[in-house]
Amino acid sequence: MNVTRNITLDAAIADAKRDYTDRHAASLANHQRALGPMPGGNTRSVLFYDPFPLTFARGEGAYLYDIDGNRYADFLGEYTAGIAGHSHPAIRRAIIEALDGGINLGGHNTYEPRFAEAVTARFPSMEQVRFANSGTEANILAISTARAKTGRAKVMVMRNGYHGAVFTFSPGVNINAPYDYVYGTYNDVAATAAEIAAHAADLACIILEPMLGGGGCIAASREFLQMLRDAATKHGIVLIFDEVMTSRLSPGGLQAKVGVIPDMTTLGKYVGGGMSFGAFGGGAELMALFDPRRADALPHAGTFNNNVLTMAAGHAALTEVYTPEAAAQLNATGEKLRARLNMICERHGVAMQFTGIGSMMAVHMLRGAVKSPADAARGNMAAKELLFFDLLKAGFWIARRGMMALNVMLSQGDYDGFADAVEEFAVSRKALLN
Ligand SMILES: *Cc1c(COP(=O)(O)O)cnc(C)c1O
Repeated sequence: MNVTRNITLDAAIADAKRDYTDRHAASLANHQRALGPMPGGNTRSVLFYDPFPLTFARGEGAYLYDIDGNRYADFLGEYTAGIAGHSHPAIRRAIIEALDGGINLGGHNTYEPRFAEAVTARFPSMEQVRFANSGTEANILAISTARAKTGRAKVMVMRNGYHGAVFTFSPGVNINAPYDYVYGTYNDVAATAAEIAAHAADLACIILEPMLGGGGCIAASREFLQMLRDAATKHGIVLIFDEVMTSRLSPGGLQAKVGVIPDMTTLGKYVGGGMSFGAFGGGAELMALFDPRRADALPHAGTFNNNVLTMAAGHAALTEVYTPEAAAQLNATGEKLRARLNMICERHGVAMQFTGIGSMMAVHMLRGAVKSPADAARGNMAAKELLFFDLLKAGFWIARRGMMALNVMLSQGDYDGFADAVEEFAVSRKALLN
């Protein structure tokens, strides 16, 4: 192994970026072309990283190929949306069949009720569901439903929570939907309970992820979720679990795994089989507010809500690819991989650890428990950047921010290779990982 000595973290990162730039001339050219018509060459902020992001040519099975001719095992899985890997035969078949029947029909189709049955059969809180086009939209609609139902205005979110493009509750973000927010503190039972009590009469809903996904794969404690459940019931507040990412963590979502059932659930990402997708649902009585047979029905618009490509791909994803058995298996594989990675970190005594549940994980460059966004913020961000570039060079694609999500196409060889690459990093960069 190539052990780094007498070099600072900054120097190591500068070297890695120089090397990256040299090896990705085509990606750099594509980025430079994009800089003209798009600010920063970008139309999805999370994909940007310095010095410029990779451009992919294609994906196949568990692998991605950049336009510079390199292959990567895909350990990001489109930030959890790509659970089927690339070009899964069942998803391809469903999309081609739907395509052959014509798209944009401007009416109902037979995929819709089948897909809705598959969704409502899986997630305990979702007796009925309505479809949307993104997780962001699903969350807007769930919050709006809660406000309509309760006649109250305020929305409790968690500090550092994330629920889509207009719901980023990190300090300094100023592009959020203009709801009247009240802030809870993730996993702080006493402080959040006090905040709920103070605003109980005005709170329409509490929305949170039962594990912070993009926020670092930090699981909510059962005690925290149960307190929210009890307080919501007591005060007539609608409890919404954003399971856009976490619904993959058991056959019935994270809600089924922890045994705390919300009033409403929002979905997105993988449930749409890789197409644009969002959904919100809850008990039949609550969802009946949208029943268009009622004179006072809430309207729910959305040109592409029932588009055949998503309805067909989503149905295939839930019933052929990510079956309850597949969900159990992928999450068991994730548990094993994370334990193996954490053993490597311990064995080499580096300030690095992997948090998460099942098939979702995130790396944090620090020692000690990570139970909150504040804990995660103590991590060494520069060391994480170096890991990203080292893994990329070794042929593994993860999020620049250190997130990983497994997909069903990855093989034992890919897992072994990934563990070896993490070990190589721990050994070769050990002096920089304190
Ligand atoms: C990705 C995500 C969203 C937003 O979904 P989009 O389809 O990207 O709009 C919302 N909530 C969570 C927890 C997410 O991870």
